[in-house]
Amino acid sequence: SKSARPAGTSVTADEAEAHRRGLMLVLSSPSGAGKSTIARNLLGQETSLSLSISVTTRPRRTSEIDGVHYHFISREKFELMRDREELLEWAEVHGNYYGTPRDPVEQALRSGRDVLFDIDIQGTFQLYERMREDVVSIFILPPSIAEMKSRLHRRAEDADDVILRRLKTAVGEMRHWSEYDYVVVNDDLSRAFLAVQSILRAERHRRSRSAAIGPFIDGMVDDLRRELGE
Ligand code: 5GP
Repeated sequence: SKSARPAGTSVTADEAEAHRRGLMLVLSSPSGAGKSTIARNLLGQETSLSLSISVTTRPRRTSEIDGVHYHFISREKFELMRDREELLEWAEVHGNYYGTPRDPVEQALRSGRDVLFDIDIQGTFQLYERMREDVVSIFILPPSIAEMKSRLHRRAEDADDVILRRLKTAVGEMRHWSEYDYVVVNDDLSRAFLAVQSILRAERHRRSRSAAIGPFIDGMVDDLRRELGE
């Protein structure tokens, strides 16, 4: 078989791969850099990747579905979850609370599935503090300020003051570019997508994500040495 068990170990290659711990992929970008399109395409193509669905106290927009885009909850419920430490991270953004429920993320990581996060910079830094080894963060940049503004204005739904607020938030976030693991400039959507997908695929093979790969390789080395009469 392709996946024979080395005599010196109880682990096969398939088992070592299956025991890989999932990773947390955090995509950040100023509005108008193309993050949501990249996230949607990634979720469509990567079967072992799922989106972390946040809880929020923000009112639901008409286009949103409870349980799909967010879990919409009351302030009281949010504070209860936060105080019971049921949130991995949380933040107040533009006057509303947002947070990541802990259980679904920990279950996914334990079973080797990867989780995608659309959270702000405060949340990203909290994940760094708690689970730095599991986090892979990518900052997506627009090719220029002019292009970012024109993308924001093309979304006719947003009023000028909303656009202005987003540009201000963008300045705050872009100043932290050096704290992300990867930076991708979205000058061309399909190229930027390919870059993000390549990062995810490479990061899955990081040695530290597989507790079983060490015993597997050691077993193979033992077998080989025995064959060589060492
Ligand atoms: P929106 O209200 O437009 O859906 O989101 C506003 C901001 O909150 C976005 O920057 C989004 O990434 C961020 N956000 C959404 N969910 C969470 C979360 O669970 N935690 C944190 N820290 N930020 C979040």
